[in-house]
Amino acid sequence: MSLRQRHLLGIEPLAPDEITALLDLAERYVVLNRSGRKHTDVLAGLTQINMFFEPSTRTQASFELAGQRLGADVLTMQVAQSSVRKGETLIDTALTLNAMHPDLLVVRHPSSGAVNLLAEKVTCAVLNAGDGRHEHPTQALLDALTIRRAKGRLHRLTVAICGDIAHSRVARSNLILLNRMESRVRLVGPATLMPAGAADLGCEIFEDMRAGLAGADVVMMLRLQKERMDGGFVPSMREYYHRFGLDAEKLARAHPDAIVMHPGPMNRGVEIDGLLADDIRRSVIQEQVEMGVAVRMAAMELLADNLRAARAG
Ligand code: ASP
Repeated sequence: MSLRQRHLLGIEPLAPDEITALLDLAERYVVLNRSGRKHTDVLAGLTQINMFFEPSTRTQASFELAGQRLGADVLTMQVAQSSVRKGETLIDTALTLNAMHPDLLVVRHPSSGAVNLLAEKVTCAVLNAGDGRHEHPTQALLDALTIRRAKGRLHRLTVAICGDIAHSRVARSNLILLNRMESRVRLVGPATLMPAGAADLGCEIFEDMRAGLAGADVVMMLRLQKERMDGGFVPSMREYYHRFGLDAEKLARAHPDAIVMHPGPMNRGVEIDGLLADDIRRSVIQEQVEMGVAVRMAAMELLADNLRAARAG
């Protein structure tokens, strides 16, 4: 079991066998995390630094727990937004941190590509915890694990990814992963929230949510990313909920066993009905959070193996 890359910067470079291997390893961590003794020494002696240039609740907590359960020394830095030009700040920060000899660096940044840039400057393994609209690989992997556990497979599924596609790194990483694992992806949302060139991404596009959900096995809702919008992308929250908010009536168009997902944080009553989000017969939103810790443990173990092999060689 190994990853061919030194870093986990996106789903794009991962082959299907690497995705499967990582999810298989994560299954073992699901068992450990449900046990009374959640500790291993897989990362003992290694230092993990988490740098979040953008606010985060679940991803940050999940990476912290993952590192601690694997026995690493874990430090989380809240990097305040600076008025200094981003490229400069980032490289300075990277070099400063590198001098402290971290082994794993977990980075979230509002600019697409910033984490890749940083990875070129440091000698440790870098994990992308979300960069702008680009990628959020551990989110797509935890979503894949959740889907695989619910549906028993990752191929030949119809997955409807709905809402604010244009601003979503979650949508991008999931689209790449699900295509690679041979599932069919539908992007559902208003034209104003579809990325340019969406039709070339190997998926179907729907502006009518009911049509987009018809027969879907998985309904993945996305947060309306108001912080990445600088204009009127939607007429009003009320209108948006009416057309694109997931409620029981719209969900009835999907497969009767369809699962409902959301990466969080949720805008209840905007992209999803609060009661539906909490309905454990349909919603796997809490399971997604649980799978997040296991997937991050697996990813860090595989990158640490590569690091040790490189150092030994
Ligand atoms: N938590 C996810 C992300 O960081 C989704 C979201 O923020 O809407 O991309």
